[in-house]
Amino acid sequence: PTPLMAGKKGLIMGVANDRSIAWGIAQAARAQGAELAFTFQGEALEKRVRPLAESVGSDIVLPCDVSDEASIDAVFDTLKAKWGKLDFVVHAIGYSDKEQLRGRYADTTLDNFLKTMHISVFSFTSVARRAADMMPDGGSLLTLTYYGAERVMPHYNVMGVAKSALEASVRYLAVDLGKQNIRVNSLSAGPIKTLAASGIGDFRYILKWNEYNSPLKRNVTLEDIGGSGLYLLSDLSSGVSGECHHVDCGYHVVGMKAVDAPDI
Ligand code: NAD
Repeated sequence: PTPLMAGKKGLIMGVANDRSIAWGIAQAARAQGAELAFTFQGEALEKRVRPLAESVGSDIVLPCDVSDEASIDAVFDTLKAKWGKLDFVVHAIGYSDKEQLRGRYADTTLDNFLKTMHISVFSFTSVARRAADMMPDGGSLLTLTYYGAERVMPHYNVMGVAKSALEASVRYLAVDLGKQNIRVNSLSAGPIKTLAASGIGDFRYILKWNEYNSPLKRNVTLEDIGGSGLYLLSDLSSGVSGECHHVDCGYHVVGMKAVDAPDI
């Protein structure tokens, strides 16, 4: 059988190290034959991202700070020159001042609110517009979100507000780009220990809580997220757009959570 992603070219944004969600999805896509390009933010991360990219046969490894429009332009200019067309994009990028990922949402500053929205929300729209210009045969755009968009989660604060906006932008983009056969979806991942997650207050407690209360009685792995990401990027999900797909061991369906977890 032909691998699911044979002949497809995709841009992976948001790998920081081998625990990054973007890396989990990249590996799953590569295992099914996708050709990949990567972006990294800042020189310090280049030395981590480049060897990972090389390990999956990619030599397109480009700097990109999504808070700088010119930097996004440069990435797409290079991709246009090297590939001409694009089939998918994974956007696994988020940022908020970690001092404000604890305490009250009410205390969010204007400066951090705007920065969080810029990097975590607008960047997806900005990338989507440029990617669509390179997708004459249609394509799939995927971003990462969290349940804190739908319900109040401790410490998630302005990031939750940003994820709500991100999920709304997925729906608007799905309509705008649907005419070009471009699908736009989000994957709502359960908590998983990554660099970004370590900035969230009491993250270990959140992991325990999810493990105890999710139907599958465990936390998600990078392989879980990779497999579902692959589905959303591939033609297996050809009829799916504007969707928020939960990959959280079922946590979001549980109404009454137990408070007396033995080991929390
Ligand atoms: P991570 O730290 O591995 O990845 C976050 C990435 O965002 C990093 O590669 C970082 O370089 C990038 N980034 C931040 N600011 C940027 C900027 N200005 N320009 C370009 N890149 C920038 O952590 P992760 O958990 O893999 O995060 C990926 C996505 O998954 C984020 O959107 C996060 O909110 C989301 N998510 C994470 C969890 C979790 O529990 N880890 C759960 C649900 C959703």
